[in-house]
Amino acid sequence: PTMGCPGRLLELKGNIRVLCRLRPGTPCGLVSTEPGPGGTVTTCYRGRQRRFRLDWVFPPDASQEEVFRELQPAVLSCLRGYSVCIFTYGQTGTGKTYSMEGPPEDPGIAPRALQSLFQEMGAGGRHRVTLSMVEIYNEAVRDLLAPGTPQRVAVRQGSAGQGGIQVAGLTHWDVPHLETLNQMLSLGRSNRATAATAMNQHSSRSHALVTLTLRVASLPLGPGTAAGTLHLVDLAGSERAWKAGSIGAPPGDKDRARRLREARTINRSLLALGGVMAALRARRPHVPFRDSQLTRLLQPALGPGATAVLLLQISTRPEDLGETVCSLKFAERVG
Ligand code: ADP
Ligand code: MG
Repeated sequence: PTMGCPGRLLELKGNIRVLCRLRPGTPCGLVSTEPGPGGTVTTCYRGRQRRFRLDWVFPPDASQEEVFRELQPAVLSCLRGYSVCIFTYGQTGTGKTYSMEGPPEDPGIAPRALQSLFQEMGAGGRHRVTLSMVEIYNEAVRDLLAPGTPQRVAVRQGSAGQGGIQVAGLTHWDVPHLETLNQMLSLGRSNRATAATAMNQHSSRSHALVTLTLRVASLPLGPGTAAGTLHLVDLAGSERAWKAGSIGAPPGDKDRARRLREARTINRSLLALGGVMAALRARRPHVPFRDSQLTRLLQPALGPGATAVLLLQISTRPEDLGETVCSLKFAERVG
């Protein structure tokens, strides 16, 4: 492979890596980009030129395979008991879901990660894999894989053994085969889509979290048993309220009030995520996990020694430049 040694991500465990993928499409409103490892994106916004350095920059024509190749070592480290979180971050329409899920004919990170994990585990049945899937909308956490219809679940402060977090009543399914896993995932996705018709643009206004837990089946379960976890998180669109159209609507409009509320809770939770990552990176003693449901849920996974990869999706369109700079600043703060 042209992209260097596998294991590079593992050596960085305990760190946060920020990769950046440019959305294909012309014209380009960026000053310049340098793709590859340690790549840069240079913007000029409101008369100010800024150069952002990232751990990796994928050019607009990067394939799903190239993106996954950079993530694969981190994904496979779950099999050795590590905790890995992969996030897609960015303005709506920049390709978060494309990168995370991908179209069926060109699968993204999630299907590739699962396939690669199952392939690595082999047919020996040594591992026990469980799956859960939730979405967070307006700080309400919904279990997308609850039997019957999606159920709201409560996130509570629990015992220290679970990283201090308990999600009461969250459904975990045993997924012995890749086919079962894929079936469960499409079930979860369709449960999300059901809500989307009822609520305009719902999917871009909520965070979606898929969690896989991997244990070696022959070891007894319980506190202290190393279990690797993989969280795949398709974050809600990071755009600010006025871009989402909320300011345009007349005051008193129900839709406007709803969108403002959505925008506020999204901004708050993304800010909380940024705060947690920045605190972890600086090894500050206090990490503000409690500031949002997203960070509370991910607290066990974002502890010391965990690997977090943020895939920043950015638009190259001139009219999106303000949002692009905001996203890059977010990356600068956490990476
Ligand atoms: P988001 O989830 O960030 O709102 P989407 O993933 O839905 O954005 O992408 C918006 C549109 O752009 C979709 O039609 C998607 O297929 C397309 N798209 C995004 N990234 C790419 C890419 N790298 N190659 C081809 N099409 C893309
Ligand atoms: Mg999306």
